[in-house]
Amino acid sequence: MKKVFSYFSRTSLLLIFIFQALSSFARQSDSNAQNALFTMHFESTDQNIAPFISRTLSQRAKTIEHFFGKPFAKKFEVRILANRAALNTYWSEAWNIPGLKTECWMVASGTAKELTILSPNAWSEDACEHTIADTLKTQLLLAHELTHVYHGQYNPQPEFEGLDAIGWFVEGLAVLVSGQLDAGHLAAAKEAIEHGKAPTQLANAWSGKYRYGVSGSLVQYIENRYGREKLISLLSSTSEKEILDELQLTEQELLTQWQKAVIEQQKSLSH
Ligand SMILES: [Zn+2]
Repeated sequence: MKKVFSYFSRTSLLLIFIFQALSSFARQSDSNAQNALFTMHFESTDQNIAPFISRTLSQRAKTIEHFFGKPFAKKFEVRILANRAALNTYWSEAWNIPGLKTECWMVASGTAKELTILSPNAWSEDACEHTIADTLKTQLLLAHELTHVYHGQYNPQPEFEGLDAIGWFVEGLAVLVSGQLDAGHLAAAKEAIEHGKAPTQLANAWSGKYRYGVSGSLVQYIENRYGREKLISLLSSTSEKEILDELQLTEQELLTQWQKAVIEQQKSLSH
């Protein structure tokens, strides 16, 4: 009896071993995870980080849908690139820019069809201004790119082609909706104004060190003054003129009134 028992237990141990070997082989050869909203692709070396990214995206997608009051229009792909070289090669082909060399602070992008991110495992070697240890900042970054995905799905230019002039709106919306503005960038808008660095043209709002705070608070100003519905209606805008016409403002009016509102807002916060 003892013999039989030990025979069975050896067999089941062997089976467990085979099962584990098979399942780890399956994970490595088919390294993507399924989700109703997105499909994830990643290398086996990023198995440690993929569940965190997937979980964060699922949670933040709900927040974004709640903000806009409507679900994502369609499914999209999520791609984790293992290192800077792989990211450059991938973006170079996807955006048709041969030999693309990206800056160290560029770690992610979002369009209607796809969200790509340099693996946080590679940030210490291949990135600046980003650290895997800052979980909240990484979650906000993912929410920012996810907002671009949502925006692209409701804009006639799903890859934001030709929308550079309204970069302040595209980026400002992502900064606002992701929560990055609340997480510390708002003070930057006031600082820019106080240091005479406020943009004199909307097209320049998404540039320089205050870009997150300035663009995010410009979009927040639009929401505060005109309401969420108006902001949502601007998702389909493709030009500055279209946005300003909708708001019935000139470029200078928008910039001046925004400056005033930021100063007032800061005053009321400090009293
Ligand atoms: Zn962005």
